[in-house]
Amino acid sequence: MPETQDPHVNPNASASAAVKFVYDFTEGNRDLKDLLGGKGANLAEMTNLGLPVPPGFTITTEACKVYLESGAEPAALRAEVSEHLDALERQMGKKLGQADDPLLVSVRSGAKFSMPGMMDTVLNIGLSDASVSGLATQAGDERFAWDSYRRLIQMFGKTVLGVDGELFEEALEDAKRAKGVVVDVDLDAADLQGLVGHFKDIVAKETGRDFPQDPREQMDLAVRAVFDSWNTDRAKLYRRQERIPGDLGTAVNVCSMVFGNLGPDSGTGVAFTRDPASGHQGVYGDYLQNAQGEDVVAGIRNTVPLADLEQIDKASYDQLMQIMETLETHYKDLCDIEFTIERGKLWMLQTRVGKRTAGAAFRIATQLVDQGLIDEAEALQRVTGGQLAQLMFPRFDLDAKSKTIGRGIAASPGAAVGKAVFDSYTAVKWSRSGEKVILIRRETNPDDLNGMIAAEGILTSRGGKTSHAAVVARGMGKTCVCGAEELEVDTKSRRMTTSDGTVVEEGDVVSIDGSTGKVYAGEVPVVPSPVVEYFEGNVDATAADADDLVKSVHRLMSYADSQRRLAVRTNADNAEDAARARRFGAQGIGLCRTEHMFLGERRELVERLILADTDADRDAALDQLRPLQKADFIELFEAMDGLPVTVRLLDPPLHEFLPDITDLSVRVALAEARHEKHENDLRLLQAVHKLHEQNPMLGLRGVRLGLVIPGLFAMQVRAIAEAAAERSKAGGDPRAEIMIPLVGTVQELEIVREESEKVIAEVAAAAGVQLDLALGTMIELPRAALTAGQIAESADFFSFGTNDLTQTVWGFSRDDVEASFFTAYLEKGIFGVSPFETIDKDGVGSLVRSAAAAGRATRPDLKLGVCGEHGGDPESVHFFHEVGLDYVSCSPFRIPVARLEAGRAAAESQGSDSR
Ligand code: PEP
Ligand code: MG
Repeated sequence: MPETQDPHVNPNASASAAVKFVYDFTEGNRDLKDLLGGKGANLAEMTNLGLPVPPGFTITTEACKVYLESGAEPAALRAEVSEHLDALERQMGKKLGQADDPLLVSVRSGAKFSMPGMMDTVLNIGLSDASVSGLATQAGDERFAWDSYRRLIQMFGKTVLGVDGELFEEALEDAKRAKGVVVDVDLDAADLQGLVGHFKDIVAKETGRDFPQDPREQMDLAVRAVFDSWNTDRAKLYRRQERIPGDLGTAVNVCSMVFGNLGPDSGTGVAFTRDPASGHQGVYGDYLQNAQGEDVVAGIRNTVPLADLEQIDKASYDQLMQIMETLETHYKDLCDIEFTIERGKLWMLQTRVGKRTAGAAFRIATQLVDQGLIDEAEALQRVTGGQLAQLMFPRFDLDAKSKTIGRGIAASPGAAVGKAVFDSYTAVKWSRSGEKVILIRRETNPDDLNGMIAAEGILTSRGGKTSHAAVVARGMGKTCVCGAEELEVDTKSRRMTTSDGTVVEEGDVVSIDGSTGKVYAGEVPVVPSPVVEYFEGNVDATAADADDLVKSVHRLMSYADSQRRLAVRTNADNAEDAARARRFGAQGIGLCRTEHMFLGERRELVERLILADTDADRDAALDQLRPLQKADFIELFEAMDGLPVTVRLLDPPLHEFLPDITDLSVRVALAEARHEKHENDLRLLQAVHKLHEQNPMLGLRGVRLGLVIPGLFAMQVRAIAEAAAERSKAGGDPRAEIMIPLVGTVQELEIVREESEKVIAEVAAAAGVQLDLALGTMIELPRAALTAGQIAESADFFSFGTNDLTQTVWGFSRDDVEASFFTAYLEKGIFGVSPFETIDKDGVGSLVRSAAAAGRATRPDLKLGVCGEHGGDPESVHFFHEVGLDYVSCSPFRIPVARLEAGRAAAESQGSDSR
């Protein structure tokens, strides 16, 4: 049911209709994620499925939004919370913080999209000086009660009151030292009672107020802290990374506490219905006996595999397996689960559709089709182009003789090589200066996020597959090995020692394999991925013994191809790239940048062209260039025989072909000082000065060059036409399209078109063949987009040059901006991703949309494509599909990604059309 139909809430309701801010777990469902957050919606769904969920309620994201916008909770919230708390207390038969038998609750964040570890949670709310002994009596365990109380003050002090967490850690260490013990569990009830006193003193000293004893005040302050945690720096950074909108807000779940730390018959764990690393079916997860909630995810103590729970508590294990099956069939997808066992009773604390590696995503999608749980169109929505791109990364050469120095858990696949760094700050600093780094930590926490983003891969010595490092790395698609226990990581001395005594210092190169969990000293060579081998045509995906990942990729690619409406072409300017692109599925060349053909040895000929004083000199230079160009085009037409090849005439400013002005000036000055001959350099220098422009990207380039250098474009057109004629005569099927860059007005295009048509006719007559060459233009200037209706009168096709269009629409220099103020813009959230990477739909995109419509209004058969970098970007491909372009063009390695995304876009829009 769409959210807007929900009878409980209607953001557009008239002022008299009260908005509902609190939902009992029995009232929600999984479709209400916008309102209840992922955690709340799924707790409600599990409650409705009859699964054992501790009772509780959810405060909506709407309440959070009001708070974030106005700085105060909505007026109605307090009374609504009271109502739900009363109901909860009635159901549990005890009151929050009741002295002789306290109801305790957890207050947990839960946004629409999972943001693991980014926001706050406070457990054990309701404990106070008055109720701690009541808890001890009820649990029959004094130590447990004092430990729970000290955990509350510690968590509350840090997250709600903003006390430096280190102060509590130090006090805990002091207590252990004073007693001469190493681990927390060796502190007894009296020690913990003493620690509670100490923690309360810390709170009073640091905040100027006592730790609140009123349970309701504790709860209200914790709710507010969770709201506030939406806007911490680390949460903002994570959202930008994951492209999660900043205005969604978080819901808050208030849930009655169950305890996994009540002895050996209690515990807490995380489970997956399938392996999130490989996608294979089986029992996957971690279990930690006698532990409370966050201990597993934090990776602080080492867990046992979930399968071991069968021995520890068979009844709970069997029930869990049953629930996992129910959940997977219900959600029709991999689910991950957090659970607690309290004295032999199983409780479900969370479930959600689980994150998974790229390989697992492809395998699971096809497995679910085979199981009849989903159809192929749905399977296509379960994978992304970003995941496919990850699968195309190279892997380590396993035959290479490399020294294995450790082995951990294969938490997130990939092959990463880099210099060892032991803290986030260094990871960021070194990566900014171009170094590849591996971030090595004992365990990571949300403060390490920056370093994890900067690193090639992450290695930890502690924690399981569900530790913070593993979960976050998988989400980012970063290589991660965790829990490599035999490696002793010493972050203070910035070194790691292996079990055989080898020391890895900061700056030493290490290689980590996130698919096997192996850690190597030095740089391990890499080999291509099997998925690339498949795209190359070296692997038969239909063979019985084919790799199951390759089979899954093949099935989903075939389905995407059968669905997609967008054709996918490549940007290529040599036969080798063209041939590879064709193997990868390219349906032609969408952009051949001819300037690349003018470099190398040919630069001298271009120099001659630029320096030519007379028509004869210029013609001589052009005559020398033409056969070379013709040979280039013949190769391209051959590689793409039968498919369109769009050749763009020369685009960049001429000074790019000349030596650097400073180098040349020095050369001339030195030659003069030494009285050496320097006539040629002097002429070059004069030419460079003449051509020098303050803003070359807005200067003499593109069609403007063709209009001011007589014969230049004609030479290129002749070379294209002659190459096409020659291929035709040889029995080939060349489909050349000539593209004019940087057009701003139809008059420019008309002049070039007239001249080109004449040349083509001459070549056709001379060769005695018919030449049907399309002539079109790039739309890469705002004026071209705004006058697209006129430009279409003279164009057979448009290709949107979204690189230049982004540059000129925003007024951002595409060459400088990424290194100058973009970081500040990204940090300020002005955009979540560079507009040079993903199309700016509202600005640049809107010009593309209107120009496409205007062009087609003039000429209904106008062919429309895009050849800027955005042509291979997943999100942009969806946009180009929606706008109705005929094709996207991208670099050869992005072709499979564009094919998949074009298929996904088509399947998605068919789904929404038929809905
Ligand atoms: C463009 O501007 O989008 C384009 C494809 O051309 P270039 O990147 O060569 O300027
Ligand atoms: Mg351009």
